This record gives sequence, structure tokens and C-alpha cells, in this order.
Amino acid sequence: MRAEFPEFRLGTVLATSFTATLTERRGDSVERIPTPQRLLDWLAVSGLAVDSCTAAQLELARELRESIHAAATAAASGEALPAAAVRVINDRSSAGRAAAILTPEGRRRWQLARVEDALGVIAADAIAIVAGERDGRLALCASPTCRAAFFDTSRSRTRRWCDMNTCGNREKKARFIANQRKNGGSE
Ligand SMILES: [Zn+2]
Repeated sequence: MRAEFPEFRLGTVLATSFTATLTERRGDSVERIPTPQRLLDWLAVSGLAVDSCTAAQLELARELRESIHAAATAAASGEALPAAAVRVINDRSSAGRAAAILTPEGRRRWQLARVEDALGVIAADAIAIVAGERDGRLALCASPTCRAAFFDTSRSRTRRWCDMNTCGNREKKARFIANQRKNGGSE
């Protein structure tokens, strides 16, 4: 483990796991892919391993990430999709040359060679979600410093936080402390 870098927040949805490589966008933001190597690490744990990444490819990745974030936020808010974001997502989707491979065990894996191929897979995932082709609902995290777009697949579609272990927990803790104060309790 490279302990000097912030850890990843991996969800079950590829596109929003990717946008979660930048967190606390409304506060002191945390960049979780600060170097090309960290992008390689993220791709590897996300089933999109490639061998090398340049600084320019990292820039492409971050541009795609912010475009997905912008498009997903607009979609979650019922607003028109920002044209520039749509263009970047489509460019990255068309530039990828990854192939989906069915393994003998009946699993899917990606056959890909370059960072651009991996970004194509991520862009296609974002398109499926923003276009409403997957079972779930795009929503924005209730944490005021986060406001991350996430994909709610809960049965009731009432999830409020992008991640229960971080944003959800912090909110619960804050509410607990506020209640303690209100009740005159001392800790
Ligand atoms: Zn959040």
C-alpha cells in the first residue's frame, strides 16, 4: 500500500466510483488520483488494469471525471446536460478500444491496452447511467461539503449519502453531538 496517498472510495458503480476519486468538492477537496501511478492503481482495482500512464493521460482522465460529475449532477437535478461535458464523455467513449471478454467461468473482463481504452469503458458506463438505462436513480449526496453524484440502487431509492462509511457516518455523528448539546449532556 502507498500510505502517503489518500485511499480510494470504491463503490459498485464504475462511473461514480471514478468521480469519487475527487471528494469533498465543496470543501477541502481530496484528490485521490494525484499521480499517473495512482490512476494506474485505481484502474487496476477497478478491473481496468493497463501498464503505463503519462501525465497527459492523467489529465484526460481528470477531464473525463469532471465531465461525468457535471453531467451526472445535471441529470440528478433534472437540469439540461452541459454541452461541454457531453462532448468530453462522447470523445472518450469513441476513443476507447476495449473489448468485453467472457471468461470460461462466465465472468466479464476487459481486454484493453491503454489508459484511453479504460476511459472509454468508464465513459460508456457514465452514458448508461445518465441515459437512465440502468436500474437505479442518480442522486446528490446530502453532505453539504460533498454533494457527490451517486447512483442509488436501494429498493426504496431513498439513499441520502454517496457513501455510508464516510459522509453518512459523519452526518450521524454530527447529529449525535448536536443532540447531546441540546440535552445538556457533557461528554
Ligand atoms: Zn458524500
